[in-house]
Formats: sequence, structure tokens, C-alpha cells
Amino acid sequence: MERIRTQVGIVGAGPAGLLLGHLLDRQGIESVEIENRSREYCESRIRAGVLEHGTAELLAQSGVGERMKREGLVHHGIYLRFRRRSHRIHFPELTGGKSILVYGQHEVVKDLIGARQAAGARIFFDVEKTEVEGMEGTAPSIRFHSGGRDYEIACDFIAGCDGFHGVCRPAIPAGALRIHEYTFPFAWLGILATVAPSSDELIYARHERGFALLSMRSPQVSRLYLQCAPDEEIAAWSDARIWAELQERFSTDEGWTLREGPITQKGVTAMRSFVAEPMQYGRLYLVGDAAHIVPPTGAKGLNLAAADVRVFARALDAYYREGKKELLERYSEICLRRVWKAERFSWWMTWMLHRGVAGEFAEQIHLAELDYVSGSRAAQTTLAENYVGLPYEEM
Ligand SMILES: Cc1cc2nc3c(=O)[nH]c(=O)nc-3n(C[C@H](O)[C@H](O)[C@H](O)COP(=O)(O)OP(=O)(O)OC[C@H]3O[C@@H](n4cnc5c(N)ncnc54)[C@H](O)[C@@H]3O)c2cc1C
Repeated sequence: MERIRTQVGIVGAGPAGLLLGHLLDRQGIESVEIENRSREYCESRIRAGVLEHGTAELLAQSGVGERMKREGLVHHGIYLRFRRRSHRIHFPELTGGKSILVYGQHEVVKDLIGARQAAGARIFFDVEKTEVEGMEGTAPSIRFHSGGRDYEIACDFIAGCDGFHGVCRPAIPAGALRIHEYTFPFAWLGILATVAPSSDELIYARHERGFALLSMRSPQVSRLYLQCAPDEEIAAWSDARIWAELQERFSTDEGWTLREGPITQKGVTAMRSFVAEPMQYGRLYLVGDAAHIVPPTGAKGLNLAAADVRVFARALDAYYREGKKELLERYSEICLRRVWKAERFSWWMTWMLHRGVAGEFAEQIHLAELDYVSGSRAAQTTLAENYVGLPYEEM
């Protein structure tokens, strides 16, 4: 068994783990990171694509924003479409000048891996048999298998950045966590298509056949979603059927057309709200999806992960530089204030825009809500300030 000694052991090289390693490196704190997928897999995994104002700033200020600034698409608003008409929510006007950046999560991951490797970081990809132990004491460790050898990382702290299906959260005794969970009675069928986006900004459409979202990953690649059943059979959805359904749900009286193109990827994503409280157990800290999940309607998952990282990196800085433990002790409390606000916003957006199972009365309430939002500056401000990202919590 090879033993590696470091200050922070990071499990998972998704956006949370990579950003954490990067920020710690800039603070002079050592870390070693392990990931059970290949580098290529991590760099091509298509997921989120909307960066809040603060997330984009955090990446830029930490020196990994060069390509993001060049290739990311600045969006000043979104469209809400219902009853065959579009209503624009203008972010800068409502939020004192803030906007969002459309830049794929896999591009963020590529930039971070590039920066980590340039800094000589130790990241093990393709690891197996990850286990975390000793979190209750002062000498936690991570064990794993890589390239035919067994390893142990002896560290001061473990960052559980291993996503919803990782091993860190399940390693915490069940009685030490409180789980809040809700599974929505619908899912998203998502596609990637090689066709220029049919809109310069995202369109959130509510139609009597269900919700649809038009998004994009670049000027050449569109990302589109359809509300579907949680157990939807993807095989039943030919490309022609997907485009016909999208055409129907986005149809308007405004002379707008949806461009079609070759579909390169399709999949069904469950819609879930999940929070594990507290986000820490002894010297194990849960960061990002390992601790919380939101339905993707509010575009908050990746941004929440970045916000957790920001708090944890600050807390570790205070600990190593000044010997102060207070921020580490308050990590969960600080993060959860933002997490619950993002859960609330994502929940509200999701119900307002989807056809649910709660009956015709609820449908009319959701339509009235959309009507209200599109006609009230106060309601639009609420949506806009949450969408571009609420101010970071005081520490
Ligand atoms: C299909 C899908 C679509 C999504 N779409 C959107 C969207 O449109 N908008 C949005 O805002 N959010 C979206 N999200 C959510 C967003 O992608 C996540 O919130 C974000 O990835 C969280 O980052 P993370 O680093 O916390 O977790 P992850 O990105 O999940 O990273 C965790 C990493 O840990 C690794 N890992 C897991 N177990 C182990 C182990 N035992 N040992 C070592 N490594 C391990 C995983 O391979 C992974 O690389 C989507 C998520 C999914 C799954």
C-alpha cells in the first residue's frame, strides 16, 4: 500500500472537486484528488450550462476564466412562453446590471483540469474501491485502488465532492444526517442537436402538452428538453417524434420557428429535490451534489456547488493561515442558507412551468403565476435576482 500525505483529500473531480483543488492551490494549501472516471469522460460529460454572475466572477478571479470569457455567451435575459406568447425577463434592468453566462459544465471542467495539471496537481483518474474513514478523529484517510496498486491518502480533512451517487455521504452514520427529499412526478427528456440555437436566449415554455426548454451550449449546438414521464422509454422517442413534440410545445403566434438538426445525444433526467443536513461530519465535508440536488429548471446545481466550494476554501484558509476553526464549524450552516433559497427557487420555477398531477385547479394557479410574473416588475425582479444568483452569504 502506498501512503500519500496531504492537507486536504478530495474525492471526485467534477466541478466541485476541481474548483476546490484549484482555489486551495492558490491559497498555498496542498490537496490530492481522486476520481473514478477517466479524464476524457469527465471532460465530455454534458450537464449544466448556465453560470450565475457570481460563479463566472469566481472562475475569472481565480485565473480560469480566459476561455470562458472568450467563448461563453453572455445572456441578459430569458423568455417565458405560455398561451403562445413570449415574455422577456430583462436581468440587468432588474438586478443592477447583472447577467448570466452560458458556458458548458464540461468546458469548465476542461479549464479546471488544465489549470490543475499546469500547477502540477496530483489527480488520480480511473480509481476504484474508494473508501473514506477516520472522519471522527483528527487523522482521516481515503483508500483507493489505481493502476494495480492500493493507496491511502492521509489528510487533515476530506472533501466529499463525489456527487449524488458517491461514497462520502453514505459513509456518514445514518443517525448523524437528516435527509429532506422530494421526487417530482415528471422528468426531462434532453437532447443535444447540431443546429444553431433558434433563440438568442433561453426559452422556458409551458404548453398544455407539457414543459419544454430551449437552451444552447454554443452558437452551433442547441440543447433542448421536453417534460416526460419519470419512466419514459427513450427508445420510443425517434428523432422525428422529438422534433414534432418540440415544434408543438414551442409553437407561437409570433412568427417564430424552431430550427431542427441532427440529434447527437438524448437521455432522460429525473427531477429531484434533496438536501442532507448537516453538510459535515467530523472532518468530512460534503460539497456540491454530494449534499444537495435541485431540479434543473432554475439552473442552480453547478452554481450551488461553486458556492459551497467558495465557503469551504475560505474556511480552510482561515484554519491554516490563522488557526481559526469558526468558519469550518459553521460551514454547513453558511452553505445551507443559500442551498435552501436555491431549493425554493428551483421548486417554484419547476411547478410554475410544468404540467403536474395536481389537477386542473393547480394548473390554473400556475398559469396565473406566469401571467403575474410576466406583468409585474416586482415578480420579475424576484425571478431575475434568483436566476442571476443571490448575493453570497456573509462569512
Ligand atoms: C444528467 C444531468 C443533467 C444536468 N443538467 C443540469 C443543468 O442543465 N443545469 C444545472 O444547473 N445543473 C444540471 N445538472 C446538475 C449539475 O450538473 C451538478 O449540480 C454538478 O455537476 C455538481 O457538481 P459536483 O462536482 O458537486 O458533482 P458531480 O459533477 O456529480 O461530480 C462528482 C464527481 O465524483 C466522481 N465520483 C463519484 N463517486 C466517486 C468515487 N467513489 N470515487 C471517486 N470519484 C467519484 C464522479 O465521477 C464525478 O466526476 C445536471 C446533472 C445531471 C446528472
